[in-house]
Amino acid sequence: MGGSTAFLYHDDFLKYQFGPHHPFQPVREKMTLDTLRSLGAFDGDSDIVVPRSTDVETLMTVHFDWYIERVRELSAKGGLLDQGDTPASPGLYEGAVMAVGATVDAARGIAEGEFDHAFNPAGGLHHAYPARASGFCVFNDMAVAVRVLQREYGIGRIAVIDIDAHHGDGTQAIFYDEDVLTISLHRFGDRFFPGSGEADETGELEGAGRNINVPLPGGTDDNLFLHAFRSVAIPALQSYRPDIIIQQFGVDGHYRDPLADLGYTTRGYAEVARLTHELAHELCEGRYLVVGGGGYDLDATMRTWSIMYSIMSEAPIDRQRLMELHDWDSPLSDRNTTLKVLDTIEEVKQRSLPLLEMVIRYA
Ligand SMILES: [Zn+2]
Ligand SMILES: [Zn+2]
Repeated sequence: MGGSTAFLYHDDFLKYQFGPHHPFQPVREKMTLDTLRSLGAFDGDSDIVVPRSTDVETLMTVHFDWYIERVRELSAKGGLLDQGDTPASPGLYEGAVMAVGATVDAARGIAEGEFDHAFNPAGGLHHAYPARASGFCVFNDMAVAVRVLQREYGIGRIAVIDIDAHHGDGTQAIFYDEDVLTISLHRFGDRFFPGSGEADETGELEGAGRNINVPLPGGTDDNLFLHAFRSVAIPALQSYRPDIIIQQFGVDGHYRDPLADLGYTTRGYAEVARLTHELAHELCEGRYLVVGGGGYDLDATMRTWSIMYSIMSEAPIDRQRLMELHDWDSPLSDRNTTLKVLDTIEEVKQRSLPLLEMVIRYA
């Protein structure tokens, strides 16, 4: 398949943090870079792209100016950006605009043909709304990148596929009534954050049929996750035929992650990366932008992202060393969970896939 891949990295990513005891630790991004470097994944350092921070005007394609100003002020003097888990501290604003800038630069690089694929580990801040921070997310980098692709490059069909353990609620809300395909596979139920993401949230107006949620119960394992991905995400992408695929690759569904109680492993994530990468070549000339997201077990996050990057970049990495990054355990779902997931997949397939087919045909 081939094609070049960029890894976006800037030390300002480390400024996007909420304190030493907070679960979100940006050092995982540097750990991933260092691991890949030691594996010889980069062609010299030419695959490592140093991004520029985004400007306020570009941020304003998604976010309100008063909200941007509020983040800047709170970041300087300290305070809470949401109801409790997203505190502002010095440097947060700089880190946040760099995280967005990296996704925007990755999108521009792909649109201009500089490279085919790109990974911004600091992106994927999918809980951010136009005027509200939430769940460790300040600005929605993916949404800003979508606006840049639409307005500066005239790209019409964009798909955002989100595999984070949590529902991509901010992204869903921003594009709910627009012709952007948004797919999210996430844990749902038992008051799991953020509480949205049911199968019947399918989009409105121009967005009708273009929002697909696969709500999964706690304890869902690799096999079921892959079954959901293959049964829903792949056929939806095939019928939408996007010009670019943006994938939120949050890895807090990993079985070692402290926040989500899902049972995914590096093997499941590797297969999702392989399938999506292949599909990007089949459907959109390789245009494939991957961003980070959740991932609160630092070691599991570093290993999973390194494996994912080695797959999308097809870097000639020593197989033995790559094997050492994989998990050896593989948790399995119990019978109840399995039946529940199979039901959900069937429900989403029967509701969402024909609806998407129909709205595309009559668009
Ligand atoms: Zn490729
Ligand atoms: Zn998450």
